[in-house]
Amino acid sequence: MPRSTPLFTAAASVVIVLSSALAQDDLPPPEMTEYWEPQPAIVTATPGQPPSDAVVLFDGSSLDAWQSAGANGGPARWAVEDGAMVVTAGTGDIRTKAAFGDVQLHVEWRTPAEVVGNSQGRGNSGVFLMGLYEVQVLDSYDNLTYVNGQAGSIYKQHPPLVNASRGPGEWQTYDIVFIAPRFSADGTLLSKARVTVLHNGVLVQHNAEIDGPTSWRGLPKYSYHVPRLPIRLQDHGNPVAYRNIWVRPLDLT
Ligand code: MG
Repeated sequence: MPRSTPLFTAAASVVIVLSSALAQDDLPPPEMTEYWEPQPAIVTATPGQPPSDAVVLFDGSSLDAWQSAGANGGPARWAVEDGAMVVTAGTGDIRTKAAFGDVQLHVEWRTPAEVVGNSQGRGNSGVFLMGLYEVQVLDSYDNLTYVNGQAGSIYKQHPPLVNASRGPGEWQTYDIVFIAPRFSADGTLLSKARVTVLHNGVLVQHNAEIDGPTSWRGLPKYSYHVPRLPIRLQDHGNPVAYRNIWVRPLDLT
């Protein structure tokens, strides 16, 4: 086989450079795939503070944004102490006065430092999106229970991808992106709810499809509801604390 001469190699290089230059000219201008409007709204995100466009649901001082989730409503009857609101057993669930659909929700929560009970009886509470779809709150640090009922689960539906739980008495965070279900005008389900959850900054639910309102017994099943409903926090009889709760209403249609 003849070997390439230096002259042949140089000529081949010139051909390659020329053809790649021609190929570049064949491409559309970069501006074709750039667009400038509309400009995204400016949100100020100061470390340690809610984003500037967030609705603050609890800032450590008052339950003004909340009411009892009982049939008769009325004031929320959980305790406010040391900048946190604490489940007062037997006073019932509480819900936001405002209603929300698609949201980004930040919640900080703490299960009791003193460990009492086990499985579902230990540090149980819950964040119910639209009052219907529960992201479980539980002391899941060295506490076995059914996996689709541990902290970070979509209760009785999806276990968390990993167990990112901190120990009893430690503050933990949920950052939740929730897409509400969509219904047609005649009440037919068009699309299921979806949820992404970061637990202590760790992804535990990724765009998980929710099969219907949380059901303790039996399979979940959708039925029509309005596009916005209050967020509900659960009184499961354990003194779980919450603080620094804020929400950014979204419209992810
Ligand atoms: Mg619960």
